[in-house]
Amino acid sequence: MMRRCAVVGNPIAHSLSPTIHRMFASQVGIELQYDAILSPLDGVVGTLNSFFASGGLGVNVTVPFKEVAFGWVSSRDAYAGAAGAVNTIVATNGIHRGYNTDGIGLINDLTTNLGCSLSGKRLLVLGAGGAVRGIVGPLLGSSPSCVVIANRTVARARELIERFEDPRLVAANLERPGEAFDVVINGTSAGLTGELPNMDGSALRGSLVYDMVYGANARVFCAWAIQMGVARVVDGLGMLVEQAAEAFRLFHGMRPDGAVVLRTLRARSV
Ligand code: NDP
Repeated sequence: MMRRCAVVGNPIAHSLSPTIHRMFASQVGIELQYDAILSPLDGVVGTLNSFFASGGLGVNVTVPFKEVAFGWVSSRDAYAGAAGAVNTIVATNGIHRGYNTDGIGLINDLTTNLGCSLSGKRLLVLGAGGAVRGIVGPLLGSSPSCVVIANRTVARARELIERFEDPRLVAANLERPGEAFDVVINGTSAGLTGELPNMDGSALRGSLVYDMVYGANARVFCAWAIQMGVARVVDGLGMLVEQAAEAFRLFHGMRPDGAVVLRTLRARSV
């Protein structure tokens, strides 16, 4: 029987989720209809209600609806609870459960695809918005020695670390986040407007630099990191593919091979 899933957002035309989920479906041999649904900005509750009422199996939720989706679902996993945001909804017997797979996606890309263990490492995360709230729990679960959350608005970084109450978490000012990090993760949205975060570039020295943004929007930050002498700079396409792989597993009970799809997308210069 044809399964029906979708990604819901606004805007949505740019979304790679339909391409990725259709590639996963053909990899594991299931029939899947996966659509991109543009929801009115003030109407996502109606969009979700009508998708599931018509027999839809699962939805991925993207900007700007992850917080509304968190309030809409009937239950949530621990990562969604900590993030206050849901990016995946699965319907089972009329119950809608919400998940947040962004953090698992990042960890799988870093550890499996890039071979970078986080255990005992010093991590620096730039930004303290919704996406960073989603990755902090899984990052702490990877046993780093510390995670510095550096944000332009420091109060927001402090607020975020208070949610987690973990002594390894430290809030910092983005301009002077410290030094000697093993991995630096850019979770700001500065790249979406072609801007660079205003920060001391020496924080990047000697690190693996990971930009959660991907494609053209990641170019400015990645180019700057290379200029700062960073040897390994990666964009967030792998995170996007791996969060989708985890969502696919939740929808269909089968885990696709994200690395294969990631290689195909990279070959297409996405
Ligand atoms: P939010 O709007 O919730 O947060 C934006 C964050 O970026 C805030 O910390 C904000 O700081 C900071 N910021 C914005 N502009 C600048 C700037 N010019 N200089 C410094 N800091 C800045 O966005 P999200 O957290 O939802 O998303 C962040 C990024 O992560 C997006 O670019 C998104 O595309 C990406 N993402 C990638 C995913 C993937 O699968 N690869 C998944 C999810 C998100 P302040 O608090 O001071 O305003």
